[in-house]
Amino acid sequence: MPSSSDLARHLSEVHQRIAQAEAAASRDASSVALLAVSKTFPAEDVRAVFEAGQRAFGENYVQEAVAKIAALADLRDQVQWHFIGPLQSNKTKVVAENFDWVHSVDRLKIAQRLSEQRPDGLAPLNVCLQVNVSGEESKSGVPPAEALTLAHAIAALPNLKLRGLMAIPEPAGTLDEQRAPHRRLHELMDTLRADGLELDTLSMGMSADIEAAILEGATMVRIGTAIFGARDYSH
Ligand SMILES: *Cc1c(COP(=O)(O)O)cnc(C)c1O
Repeated sequence: MPSSSDLARHLSEVHQRIAQAEAAASRDASSVALLAVSKTFPAEDVRAVFEAGQRAFGENYVQEAVAKIAALADLRDQVQWHFIGPLQSNKTKVVAENFDWVHSVDRLKIAQRLSEQRPDGLAPLNVCLQVNVSGEESKSGVPPAEALTLAHAIAALPNLKLRGLMAIPEPAGTLDEQRAPHRRLHELMDTLRADGLELDTLSMGMSADIEAAILEGATMVRIGTAIFGARDYSH
């Protein structure tokens, strides 16, 4: 288990990687937001990373996330919780009630439920459309050819705010191979914007491909392993 000081050091190393990639891409410093992906890690680790200055956290599993959000209720006003995992219809209500963002919307039915179930007193739920840029059968995400129609339908829902696109490209070896799917997602966002959608978020880049994603225009990278360490799914 990493100590609090290990976690703070990992966080600062990730900040350095982001800053170097921003410079290499001739992008403004701090133009890339960091989402710390805390799935499988305990609330105490999230608190340590929060104390090191991090404010946005990503979770994949509804039950685990809701328990963690409750354990960290004292931080609720200061933390943004992002849901980034596969989302089934029977879990949309809990997500609409507990999160600030959902990155993994890939069907209109899920978006409609999130909008209907968003509690009245809360700000609109920020959402990203997850796009399947790698074309793998097994992957979730809307096919790129269907993204424009779906994005317009989601943008029309009252209690959601469509912010942009998200992708989880297949792992790739070289920087050039890593860049290609990220570039496709950026081009798709440009197409959607040209069609009148106001989007400001390109959610792409994980521990292994942060640099490729930032070179291709990521505005939010989702980093787990490089901050919290290797995940253990055995319990
Ligand atoms: C787990 C996860 C991440 C973080 O991946 P790392 O390789 O650990 O940085 C990012 N995005 C999504 C959607 C994830 O499920």
